[in-house]
Amino acid sequence: MPFTPFRIGTGILIKALLQGSFSLMVFGWSQIVMDLQPLWVLLNGHGQLHGFSHTFIGGTLLAVVSALTGKYLSEFDLVILRLSKSFQPIKISWFVAFISAFVGCFSHVILDGIMHSDVQPFYPISLSNPMLGYVSVANLHKFCLYTGLIGAAIFYVVQWRNRKSNKSFKRDS
Ligand SMILES: [Zn+2]
Repeated sequence: MPFTPFRIGTGILIKALLQGSFSLMVFGWSQIVMDLQPLWVLLNGHGQLHGFSHTFIGGTLLAVVSALTGKYLSEFDLVILRLSKSFQPIKISWFVAFISAFVGCFSHVILDGIMHSDVQPFYPISLSNPMLGYVSVANLHKFCLYTGLIGAAIFYVVQWRNRKSNKSFKRDS
């Protein structure tokens, strides 16, 4: 099923650990880009549901597409959502955009590879899917949910501590 939100849990944990060196927006965008092909197949009823997009080669190409488009889309979104407290528009570096997109696309291939029998992650070298059933779908969903919750907790603790130390820095200086 395309566009399931549980994948974002892993992204939230990585965001919490890497903070400004990771863009959750570009990561999320890459999840949508990855599932455009399955959506097309679902709507048209022909083709392989998880086809070339859900291979490591396809994922690499879509990571580049996600980084190139996601950087500008995310910067635009962040201005609209006003997640930036300053009036300066937020800039996402190319390095952060590419890291986030590659983490997004490769984790997507792995997670879908565990869940879906038609994923061929190592195409064209191998048509088999050694990841299938490595973890049960129920445990995979739990893993994504818990990493999301733990990630959100870590993220807010770090943000809170940063704000606190910024305040005391301003007071001391
Ligand atoms: Zn997918």
